[in-house]
Amino acid sequence: MTHNSITHRLYYDRADLRSFTAIVTDVRERVRENGQSLWEISLDQSAFYPTSGGQPFDLGTLRAVSRSGAELEAAVLEVAEDEAGEVWHCTTKPLNAGTEITGEIDWPRRRDHMQQHTGQHLLSAVFHRELNAATISFHLGEESSSIDLAAEGIETLLTPETIARIETIANDIITENRPVSLRSVPRAEAESLLAAGSLRKLPPREGSIRMVEIDSLDLNACGGTHVRSTGEIGALLIRKIEKVRGGMRVEFLCGTRAITTSRREFLQLTESSALLSSSGAQLAANIQKLLAESKSAARERWTLLEQLAAYHAAELLQSATMRGALRWVECELADRDLEYIKLLAAKIIAASPDTAALIVSTQAEPAPVAFSSSAASLHAGNILRESLATLNLRGGGSATLAQGAVPRAQLAALHDAIAAALPR
Ligand SMILES: [Zn+2]
Repeated sequence: MTHNSITHRLYYDRADLRSFTAIVTDVRERVRENGQSLWEISLDQSAFYPTSGGQPFDLGTLRAVSRSGAELEAAVLEVAEDEAGEVWHCTTKPLNAGTEITGEIDWPRRRDHMQQHTGQHLLSAVFHRELNAATISFHLGEESSSIDLAAEGIETLLTPETIARIETIANDIITENRPVSLRSVPRAEAESLLAAGSLRKLPPREGSIRMVEIDSLDLNACGGTHVRSTGEIGALLIRKIEKVRGGMRVEFLCGTRAITTSRREFLQLTESSALLSSSGAQLAANIQKLLAESKSAARERWTLLEQLAAYHAAELLQSATMRGALRWVECELADRDLEYIKLLAAKIIAASPDTAALIVSTQAEPAPVAFSSSAASLHAGNILRESLATLNLRGGGSATLAQGAVPRAQLAALHDAIAAALPR
């Protein structure tokens, strides 16, 4: 099935159109997987917006009534335009060419896109007017939107004070409810607007150019969908600012998104503040205090552990056995972790020359082991590594302190392997 004219885009003149009737002009199978087909349908006219210019496609439904009177509804899963300008509606059901359909746009989604997109025109215009910063790209995401700005020294220009000032100006213009108007101009006229500096950029396409104007602020060549006046943007919230290649990325939220995100974050903030019995305003100061306390508690704990390990080492040395000239200490602890047994093994050899110690923690499985040596002839790392290797295990360390982990069932075997390496 072929046809001559491409889809007439109803949203060009009526961005507020939520439902429309049209005739199916073409249908093609896009993909077939596991017995399920996806279809692409073109219409003589459509209010569905196809992904372009940073704005995502619309969702919705196409409905038709068959000759027998049965109603058929096909969900629109994606909308895309091809190079010729045809708009394709992707559905799970085919509709034959010539069928009359009623299209229904998922309005909350579209309205959200129009708020973010028109908000982007506004924000880009304010950044341009106030900081001479050009918007080099726009992204409308599921969670938030962003623009990338480029200007001389933009990184240092975007101070928190400047961001707050830009946000205030943008919201003042929203409150003023300025008209957002559309018109088509011949390409020659658009080119003279560009030359005069009234227009910042012009798409390369031929024919008439669709212009979007925010009263006394911004003139743009754009094929997207826009709200009718700035008041419909609702509100504009600037979020994260980050450095990207070639400029700075400014994240923002408009309209209902700004409200729902603020609400969600307010609840998170309230919950976090309640944990610290503080108000939102004091939250950062209280967290800072808590972190300082936690750091000092960790230092204190380490000092106590070191003292404990020193006493523990002295006690274990009392029951050391002699292997030739070597003093030998071994011990299994069920209530101590790797950190402590390493500390203990180090304290033992620090307190006693010509000494070796094997300390095992049976708190975990596999059991952490620490092996230390203050005897010049006994390299702790080599002995432990070789002993573990006989059990197909890995571990090692320096000449004085080594560590590994051994399944408890193999502890006796490790013990034998190490003992074999010691003087008799
Ligand atoms: Zn636009």
